[in-house]
Amino acid sequence: MAVRKMEFKTPEEIELIRQSCLLVSKTLTEVGKMLKPGMTGLEIDTFAEEFIRDHGAVPGFKGLYGCPSTLLVSQNEEVVHGLPDKNQVFKDGDILSIDCGTYMNDFYGDAAYTFCVGDVAEETMDLCRRTKHALYLGIDQARAGNRTGDISFAVQSYTERKHKYGVVRELVGHGLGRSLHEAPDVPNFGKRGRGPVLREGLVIAIEPMINLGTKNVLSKPDGWTIVTKDRKPSAHYEHSVAITKGGEPADLMSDHRPIEEAIRNNPNLKFVDNLDDELVWRYQPV
Ligand code: MG
Ligand code: MG
Repeated sequence: MAVRKMEFKTPEEIELIRQSCLLVSKTLTEVGKMLKPGMTGLEIDTFAEEFIRDHGAVPGFKGLYGCPSTLLVSQNEEVVHGLPDKNQVFKDGDILSIDCGTYMNDFYGDAAYTFCVGDVAEETMDLCRRTKHALYLGIDQARAGNRTGDISFAVQSYTERKHKYGVVRELVGHGLGRSLHEAPDVPNFGKRGRGPVLREGLVIAIEPMINLGTKNVLSKPDGWTIVTKDRKPSAHYEHSVAITKGGEPADLMSDHRPIEEAIRNNPNLKFVDNLDDELVWRYQPV
């Protein structure tokens, strides 16, 4: 990891981060319009890089720590950091975590969404629904005065204690700003009341990575892709959020609504329902 320092952003800086994050959302929306079985990771990655550059930004991941691609596309048992190439072919029944970063006006944007292609198994749909729900449970704890552990606890108690899924330990959410990965770490497991205190101006990426089976993961021989040890599917949803004043709800930098509209309009994709509309609407008003 590069810079590991908590940086509290000014309102002007938060607006710049928002612009970068909204470009991530736009990119994922366009990807959501085109996804279909038979398409390859290379095709969407090539599209995404062009789209980001056409909008005056550069890909946020490409070149960072040696990352070769604009998107990180993780298929089924791949948790995160899957590398899109011509051999990565999407098929009916796949779930695809697509993670995207941008860099513009000195600030990074970061968000991810898991897309369900065609006839996805019902237990895998449940995993996606609950992982997405856990993201919002975590966001709901992202308030000034709380600690990172309050977010961690909310995600873990719902997914692991209640639903017996595996919470990945090796990868965590993070601060976001002039660097893609800033302090603090935002783990998806932990205890209430532990970890750094959240204060106004902090921007964090909250990103539950939840496995249908074991929490244990391995690194593939490509040195990038993280897969579940039991090869069961894994889901991943990510929003970047800014901590606001006095315990008010966080301000979402990324926007999943247009992505979900694209999914609803794409007959090749299955929409992952919200388990608590009121909670989602608190953060993504309709
Ligand atoms: Mg990400
Ligand atoms: Mg991230």
